[in-house]
Amino acid sequence: MFAKVIVDIAHSQVDKVFEYSCPPQTQVGCRVKVPFGGRIIEGFVIGVSQTSEFAAEKIKPVTEIYDELPALVPECFTLMEGIAERYRVPKAASLRLFLPTEMRLGKVNEIYVKRIKLTGASIALPKTAKKQAEALAYLQAEGDCEYVPLTKKFGSGAVNALAEKGAAEIYKVKRNRAPSYAASGETDTKVLTDAQCGAVGYIENSPHTVNLIHGVTGSGKTEIYLNLIADKLKEGRTAIFLVPEISLTPQMAAQLRARFGGQAAILHSGLSAGERFDEWWRLRSGEAKIAIGARSAIFAPLENIGVIIIDEEHDSSYRSETAPRYSTAEIAKMRAEYNGCKLVLGSATPSVESFIEAREGRSGLVTLTERINGKPLPEIIIADMRRELKRGNPSNLSRALREELEATLSTGNQAIIFINRRGYSQTVICTDCGYVAKCRSCDVSLTYHSEENCLKCHYCGAKYRMLPACPDCGGSRLRYSGTGTQRVVAELAQLYPSARIVRMDNDTVSGKDGHYKILKQFAEKKADILVGTQMIAKGHDFPSVTLVGILDADMSLHFSDYRSGERTFQLITQVAGRSGRAGAKGKVVLQTYSPENYILRFAVEYDYNGFFENEVKMRKAALFPPYSLICRVMVVAEEDGAALEALKSVYFAMEELRNSDPREFIFFNKMHSPIKRIKDRVRYQVLARMRTEKYLKAIYEIAAANSSSDVLVYVEENPANLS
Ligand code: ADP
Ligand code: ZN
Repeated sequence: MFAKVIVDIAHSQVDKVFEYSCPPQTQVGCRVKVPFGGRIIEGFVIGVSQTSEFAAEKIKPVTEIYDELPALVPECFTLMEGIAERYRVPKAASLRLFLPTEMRLGKVNEIYVKRIKLTGASIALPKTAKKQAEALAYLQAEGDCEYVPLTKKFGSGAVNALAEKGAAEIYKVKRNRAPSYAASGETDTKVLTDAQCGAVGYIENSPHTVNLIHGVTGSGKTEIYLNLIADKLKEGRTAIFLVPEISLTPQMAAQLRARFGGQAAILHSGLSAGERFDEWWRLRSGEAKIAIGARSAIFAPLENIGVIIIDEEHDSSYRSETAPRYSTAEIAKMRAEYNGCKLVLGSATPSVESFIEAREGRSGLVTLTERINGKPLPEIIIADMRRELKRGNPSNLSRALREELEATLSTGNQAIIFINRRGYSQTVICTDCGYVAKCRSCDVSLTYHSEENCLKCHYCGAKYRMLPACPDCGGSRLRYSGTGTQRVVAELAQLYPSARIVRMDNDTVSGKDGHYKILKQFAEKKADILVGTQMIAKGHDFPSVTLVGILDADMSLHFSDYRSGERTFQLITQVAGRSGRAGAKGKVVLQTYSPENYILRFAVEYDYNGFFENEVKMRKAALFPPYSLICRVMVVAEEDGAALEALKSVYFAMEELRNSDPREFIFFNKMHSPIKRIKDRVRYQVLARMRTEKYLKAIYEIAAANSSSDVLVYVEENPANLS
C-alpha cells in the first residue's frame, strides 16, 4: 500500500505531497515518520492507495506509524486547503494548527499503564513455581489488574513467566491526566425567558449559517449558548464554544462543568501541557463532545459539529498574531459550512463588520434589549477631568468617583476601577532636560514599577534598575508622568485605609492560575475594590459590584486608526456592564478630558445603533473598512540593510500593482513602523488601502516571495494595532 504524505516542514519548497510505501493498517490522518532528505521526520498521511505511479525503487517506506486512531479528522484536509490558499502558507503550517504543539514537538507522550489479564489458556505449572501459582490464583480471583502492583506482590519473575507461558497477557492502556469533572448530579438549568427561548428558536431555524446575537450585558446570552449546545448534544452532535483569551472565569468553567460534566473539554492556558494533551484526546476519541477555549479551540478535533459559538465576537484576541494570521470567525465559518451547522456570534457591542453583515441580511440577527428580570443598565456619569484640574484636584480620582466609592464601601458593596495601563507611571521624564527613559532593544519608553522599584519594557519584558539621576544631564528631578494600576492602588490605599484592594494586570496574574485566584478572591468578597487593566473588562459576573470607575476612557480615542472609536465604545460598554448585575442598581463614573466626544455620548446612552449609524456614515465617506481593505506588509529583521533591501523589493512589486490600476489604491506608502524597533529587530512597513480585495492574493504572494530566514515579511489585513 502507498501513503500520500505531507512532511512537517513549513517551507514553500517542500510544500507538496510525497509518496511512501506503508503497511496495510495505515489510515488517512495518521502521523507517521518518514525518511526525507537524509533525515527521519514527522509527516501526516493525507491519502492512501493500492497503487503508485512511481517506480517501486523510487519509493521509500514509512518508518513508523504513531496513531491507532488518526490524529487528524477528515475535515482537516479540506480546511488545510482553504487555509493554505487564503493565508498563503504551506500546507504543513496549516495542518499544524490542528495539533496541540505539545503533541507535535513530542514534548508530551501518552502515558500508558501496563495491565495484565488471563488469556484463558490452561498451563501446567511445576510444583516449585509457588509464586507463579499464587499470582495465577490471584488473577483468577481478581480479574485483570495493574501490572506493577502485581509484580510487587509476587515478583516480576513470576508474573512475567505467566505471560511467557501464555497464561496471561500484558497490555497497555492510555491513562488520562485530564482533570476529572464528575458530572455533578444537580443540573443547573434555568427556565428560559421568552426572549431567550425566541433566540434559541430563531437560530435553530435560521436560513443563515452565521447568526449574530446582539444582546446588552446581562441579557442572558450564556444561557442561550448552553441551550443551543444541549440541543445539539441530544442529536448526537458536538459543539465548539469560544471565549476571548483570559476570560474563562472560574464561574464560567464551573457552570459548564455543572451542566455538561465530562462531556466538556476545557482547553485553556492554565492547564499543563500534559493535561491539555489529554483533554485533546478526549475530544478526538469522542469521549468529550464540547470543546471550550480561546481562539485555538476552533481547531478542536471534533466530527459532526452541531454548533459553533463565538462569545464576545468583537474581541481582538480572535485574530491570530502569528502566521498564519487567521481570523477565527473565518475559520469558524469554514467549519460551520463543512458540517452544515450554525455559527453563532454574540456580543453586547458587535464589531461594525459583523453588524453590517446582519443588517444587510447576509447573516441572521437576534436582538436582546433587556437585562434578565428587566434590571436597568447602570447609569453612566461623566466626570470632566479638565474641570477637576482647574479646581485644583491633581488626583487620578475625580470628586464624583470618590463620592460614589465612599457610598459603595459604606454599604458593603464592591467596586471595580479600570485603567488600561499597568505599572506605576507611563514614563519617567527628566524635568531639567526632557530625557525620557527608553528600552535598549525597543523603540519605546519604559514604565516605572513601584513594587519592584524598577523600569520595565512592556514590549520585550526587559527590566532596568531605577535611575538615581538623569543619565543625560545628571539632574535629579525625575518626574513620573502618566498613571498605571500600581499608582491608582497606592492612591486608593491612602484614601481608604480600611478598604481591601486587589490588583489584576499582567504583573499580578503570572503563574498557572494567577488570575483565577484574584477573581475568586474578589468573587468571594474577600476584597472591596478590584483595580485592573482590560483583563477585568470581559464577561465577569460579580453580583455585589455596584460601582465601576473608568479612569482613562479617552486614552484609546487618540490612537490614530480607524477603529479607535469603535474600540472605545466597546470598552466602555463592556466595563460598565460589570456594574449592578444583581440586586442594587449600578453606577459608572467615566473620567475623560474630552466629555463632548460623540463616541462617549453614545456610550453613556448605551446607544449602539446611534454609534453604529454614525460610524458607518463616517467609514463610507472616508472609505475605511469594511468599505475598503487596509493591508500592512511588515518587514522585520535584525539587520537594517537586509530589511531595507526586502522593503524596497516589496514596495516595487506592490507599486507595479498600483501603477497598473491606480484607481484601486486609495493610499499607498512605505515607511518605518510607528515603533521602529522591537526586541532588537527593525520594523518597516508598506501600507496600502484599497477599494476591494482584488489584489489581496497578489500581496500575500509578494510577501511570501520576499520572506527569508533573515527577513520576516508578512501581511496584516485591517490590523487592529498599527504600532
Ligand atoms: P450576558 O452573557 O448576556 O452578559 P449572562 O449570561 O451572564 O448575560 O446572564 C446574566 C445573569 O442572568 C447571570 O447571572 C445568569 O445566571 C442570569 N440568568 C440568565 N438566564 C436566566 C434565566 N433564564 N433565569 C434566571 N436567571 C438567568
Ligand atoms: Zn524592550
